[in-house]
Amino acid sequence: MSHIGGKFYGYTGKSAFIDLTNRTVNVEPADSKIYHDFLGGRGVQARLIHDVIKKTGGIKNPLGPDNRIILGTAAPNDTLIPTAGRGSCSFIGTMTCSPEAVPWIPGQRPLHGLIAHSSCGGRFPNVLKRAGIDHLIIDGKADSPVRILVEGGKVRVVDAEDELFEVVDGRKTVRTASAITDLLSRKHPKSSTVCLGPAGWNKVAYACLTADYHRNFGRGGAGAVFGSKNLVAITASGADQLTYFNQELFQKLGREIDELIKGHVGDPSRTASLRPTAGTTWWLDRAFNGGYMGKQGGYLPWHNFDEGSFNPDDYAKVSTAAFLEISGKHKVCNRCRHIMCTRAAEVTGGVYAAAAVRPEFETIALWINCCLIDRDAIFYLNHLCNELGIDTMTFGSVMAGAMELHEKGFLRRFENPPAFGSGPDMVRTIKAISYQSDPLGKMLGGYSDRVISEVGAGFTAADLPEIARCLTTAFGGLGYAGIEPKAFPGMFTAYGTSNRGRGDHTYAWTVQAEEGGLEGADNLAAYVLAGQEGKALVDSLGLCDFYTGDVTSEQFLSLYHALTGFEYTENSMKACGRRIYALERHINNIQGRTRSYDAYVPPKLTVPLSSGALKGRSADSALYNKTLDSYYEKQGWTNDGVVRPETLLEMGLSS
Ligand code: SF4
Repeated sequence: MSHIGGKFYGYTGKSAFIDLTNRTVNVEPADSKIYHDFLGGRGVQARLIHDVIKKTGGIKNPLGPDNRIILGTAAPNDTLIPTAGRGSCSFIGTMTCSPEAVPWIPGQRPLHGLIAHSSCGGRFPNVLKRAGIDHLIIDGKADSPVRILVEGGKVRVVDAEDELFEVVDGRKTVRTASAITDLLSRKHPKSSTVCLGPAGWNKVAYACLTADYHRNFGRGGAGAVFGSKNLVAITASGADQLTYFNQELFQKLGREIDELIKGHVGDPSRTASLRPTAGTTWWLDRAFNGGYMGKQGGYLPWHNFDEGSFNPDDYAKVSTAAFLEISGKHKVCNRCRHIMCTRAAEVTGGVYAAAAVRPEFETIALWINCCLIDRDAIFYLNHLCNELGIDTMTFGSVMAGAMELHEKGFLRRFENPPAFGSGPDMVRTIKAISYQSDPLGKMLGGYSDRVISEVGAGFTAADLPEIARCLTTAFGGLGYAGIEPKAFPGMFTAYGTSNRGRGDHTYAWTVQAEEGGLEGADNLAAYVLAGQEGKALVDSLGLCDFYTGDVTSEQFLSLYHALTGFEYTENSMKACGRRIYALERHINNIQGRTRSYDAYVPPKLTVPLSSGALKGRSADSALYNKTLDSYYEKQGWTNDGVVRPETLLEMGLSS
């Protein structure tokens, strides 16, 4: 099925199917029906991953050659819509695994990795589009290191040059992400590169991809999947102009939307007004002491999620203001206007001196959760994560777990285990993990149930529950985000039901609503579900989480029609979000996800907070289970969390 008059608008209309095993590339016209029903970005990628899952019956090993990884864009990318510079990367995640039967999780069923979607800004997504390709669909495994080059609608698989590698601790590994980007930028002027770092090359379960030096396809393990395929980098360059269904109308409506977003940012009663200065770090003050809008804080995690508050004098060292002190000029994603959350940052003296970017709230929060109250160390570790190709958030959760294991004496057979609060320990450990250079680093680079098994091998079976208790990432967890998971039952539901894995905060966000009084199982379930479907739309339209407009409004749908020629109503656009979310869940069902995964509550989260404004709160298993019942019912899934075949058919999908 081709698009209007055989021509695509907004999209390039071309997808590249790349088989690394045979080093072949087929550039094919896109299927218009898929683009209509799944929009672009995350949605189209879920649909294309489902093709593989259907054929294989599921991916048993996310590091195997049959794990398809896709990078691509959506129609709004590279237009004047504010924040329309976010690209998508989808694959089966390497962290969300628990494939062996384990005794420390009652009711555990084998899990082989969940569908992961990561969104990334910078220049890469828009440059890929200018290079003439919507999606790069990558299968197989190269027999020696390769990279991919996309230029003027042509895609080539080429040998990765020796200069992209170095020897560290006697082993050949890729250079840091900035060194790879520098080398490829020199070779391909005006290009943009996305690449793995040493962690991805060494297949660390939470290795990310880094684009344009400091933007990341962060969560899920995209870097490890690249490493498993012997794929080092993708470089794109091109100057293709976008085609519009109705360019004049698009420009007019686009200017109106631009004014709308500008107005949101200029309104001091909106959180958007804080983005251009404090970015996401304004959440630090809000989560710690409720410094905004008269709300209480007490939910900034501390000591591996045991508490939501700690000494205010310590907090002052890592507060919103502390990070503002080192913030410089804006360093925003291509085509971002008004919201502009990212700023350069610099530490000019001491062992952590560097010029880089300011860390995000979630990163800072999760390293405060390691009791690290050293701003400069947090800044430097963030820089290291970009260089080594590590997801800052999962690294934070894994590290807090390792610190508690050490505190309880379970890591005594390892040299130099990390202690709570130590920046030097975290720097040493992240290098050991990334380069897989010592036994502790090798162990901590795997998914969590493997870590628990390996730690437990040195102890008795009776110690296993206590060992498992230290790792909140057990049972295929992605790692909780920076809002204390005990604090809000709605947020706990969002964490527990996110398609990309337990702990993800981006698919639904309930904090303001719960602070405003949202409560009750049915209301929480409905709110989370609506958030998840809305986020599926935003990701599939190539927009940022911080886009403040409504993508189901008449204004946006008219704009989208002027761009693509596709017509939607509010309901039919919402149906796309529902379809995308259900398809991802169906893929996850095939990968082994059922209610047993969603319902798992890490035991330490049932211990109430002992201090702070939210003293007494804990994960309430009874309320959570009731909320899950309601959530599945509203989704039309079975009570075991499985998407029904008839639901798939209704949505135009087959199992
Ligand atoms: S708001 Fe921030 S993350 Fe979003 S597009 Fe702009 S700079 Fe990028």
